Amino acid sequence: MIRVFNRIFVYPQIPNFAKNSFRLFHIQSDKVMISLLILQWIISTFITSIYYNTYLYGFFGGALIVVPIIILFPYLKGERYYRYFIAIAMMLFSVIYIQQYLGRIEMHFHVFIAMAILTLYKDILPIVIAAATTITHHIVFNYLQLYEISLFDMPVMVFNYGCGFDIVILHAIFVISELLVLGYIIRMQIEHSVHLNITQDQVSKLNKELEHTSLHDSLTGLPNRLYLNQQIQKVMKNAIKNDEKFAIIFLDLDHFKNINDTLGHDIGDALLQTVANILTNNIDEKSLITRIGGDEFIIVIPGFKNENDLLPVINNLLKEFRKEFFVKGYSLRLSASIGVALFPDDSTNINELMKYADIAMYQAKSDGRDNFGFFTQKLNKKIHNEVDIINDMQRAFYDNEFKLYYQPKIDVKSEKIIGAEVLLRWHHYEKGMIAPNIFIPISESTGFILTLGKFVIEESAKAIKRFEMMGYDNLLISINVSTRQFQNTDLFQDLQDVIIENDINPKQLGIEITESVMMQYIEKTLLALKKIKDLGISIYIDDFGTGYSSLSYLKKFPIDTLKIDKTFVDDINGTSNNKELLINTILAMGKTLGLKVVAEGVENKEQYEFLKQRECDIIQGYYFAKPMCEEDFLRLLAKESKE
Ligand code: C2E
Ligand code: MG
Ligand code: MG
Repeated sequence: MIRVFNRIFVYPQIPNFAKNSFRLFHIQSDKVMISLLILQWIISTFITSIYYNTYLYGFFGGALIVVPIIILFPYLKGERYYRYFIAIAMMLFSVIYIQQYLGRIEMHFHVFIAMAILTLYKDILPIVIAAATTITHHIVFNYLQLYEISLFDMPVMVFNYGCGFDIVILHAIFVISELLVLGYIIRMQIEHSVHLNITQDQVSKLNKELEHTSLHDSLTGLPNRLYLNQQIQKVMKNAIKNDEKFAIIFLDLDHFKNINDTLGHDIGDALLQTVANILTNNIDEKSLITRIGGDEFIIVIPGFKNENDLLPVINNLLKEFRKEFFVKGYSLRLSASIGVALFPDDSTNINELMKYADIAMYQAKSDGRDNFGFFTQKLNKKIHNEVDIINDMQRAFYDNEFKLYYQPKIDVKSEKIIGAEVLLRWHHYEKGMIAPNIFIPISESTGFILTLGKFVIEESAKAIKRFEMMGYDNLLISINVSTRQFQNTDLFQDLQDVIIENDINPKQLGIEITESVMMQYIEKTLLALKKIKDLGISIYIDDFGTGYSSLSYLKKFPIDTLKIDKTFVDDINGTSNNKELLINTILAMGKTLGLKVVAEGVENKEQYEFLKQRECDIIQGYYFAKPMCEEDFLRLLAKESKE
């Protein structure tokens, strides 16, 4: 019995997210109910009283019920009590209808229909109340009939099929069975609605999630390029409307690849998340911050009149990036390069603006990184020049436009030249001198570095021989070797070949590699380096300190010398608090591992004295000599030996 009752009357809880849709439904049902009520009122009282020429009591009495319901609609619509009120009113009209029209043919069907209509509410209580009203009216009318009492001068009701409380019982049975049927229907309606709502809710949640993932980067949670493309049109429209500018800012981390290569992708990922935080914390909410891949971010700053307004934001960002980062137990140094293009100054075409910001960012990188730059048309020309450079390099090579320059290295104790670093120069017949910072990266990306690299190895060996013949037989000549030479050529073979061909002492030759070269394909590189070292060639780690190689790796590799990167030497005159700490650490590291330390990029006396005091072994920099051609280098050597 209880189970039957539960099956019929225990409804599922309406979850919060569905409540609103139920409420809307109730309001709609209220409207339908009120319309039906008015219809019933007109038919059961007004029309029937005209038709049967009876009193208009019912009509005016009915108005007392209908009018308040209509007036209260705006205040009570959708409320539960309002529904009860309507349920009672409906039943009263079905009563009046029977009273006024034909009591004789009273059938339960009307009542059933009226109660069934109430199922529209998907709520059992209005029906229970309607049922109670029905039963009550039967009790009242049977009572009136039994004792022949007349109310409001109305004729006493006469039921044609019986009289007394047996009729009430019969009605009660009808009403209760109606209640059971309708209750069950309502329960199913509610279950169905809730179910529909759940599905709808899930679908809309899923849709939202899908939309979010398709527009956001999963690692940092920042919006992605797709989102950027969607939003930027709006930004442009606003800028035009308000007669304002907006900036597209390309931000790329410097040497991020090194971190990924040397410390692993976990650390790289964690660092990118930190970077995303820095950006969101330092750029106002009006701006759009997006990650468009790898270590590249695009920031759109809208709503400013003067480009100088941007400078504090950019400078602050660069400053934030220079801070020391602590990621998963590592302390990392980082910097970023930033390129800016302005709407509408540089272009009114979004694609062009993006390209320009990218160009400006690359310029900032080649200007030494940790830097920012605005796009200029001059830059645009320069990029086109790069394409020219690629096309021109091959010709230049066969026209002998590439020359070796030598930058002397000075022993700190004796203050004598002990050797030189070989640096490549391109004397272009038309454009003049082109710096390696421009053509080396391009040649690395095109693969031409393999030709250039081999040329440098061969020419350096020949030069060593020439120096030897002139009596300088203990100079240490180091050459720079790029990653691709390790990957794509047999470097060991090339070096061995030139040593044998030119009959030079391998002890006079050294190669400079960066930490990232060392950390890529570790086992393979280790093997190659060991073989090269066995030839007698010295191995230098170039730009040391920018690549995060760990002490354990340094121990493993057959290294002779560390070259402290110029940025650390620059710090000596700088304001950085930990300048001494870093240089001291590197010097101490060198001593512990039994390595020599070269400081590169020494530009003034202060730096030199600082390094000398701390027993740095070798110095290289403009303070002593810039890179120079072979004749100048020989002249310098000659001058020194005369002294
Ligand atoms: P690097 O190997 O770190 O070379 C040191 C760079 O610092 C050289 O720039 C040198 O001219 C510059 N430098 C030295 N002392 C000072 C100083 O006191 N102040 C300043 N401001 N700069 C100083 P350069 O010659 O422009 O070469 C740039 C880079 O190009 C080199 O960096 C090296 O990575 C690459 N490179 C040069 N020649 C070759 C080559 O033959 N092969 C390869 N693979 N790369 C090369
Ligand atoms: Mg070098
Ligand atoms: Mg260097």
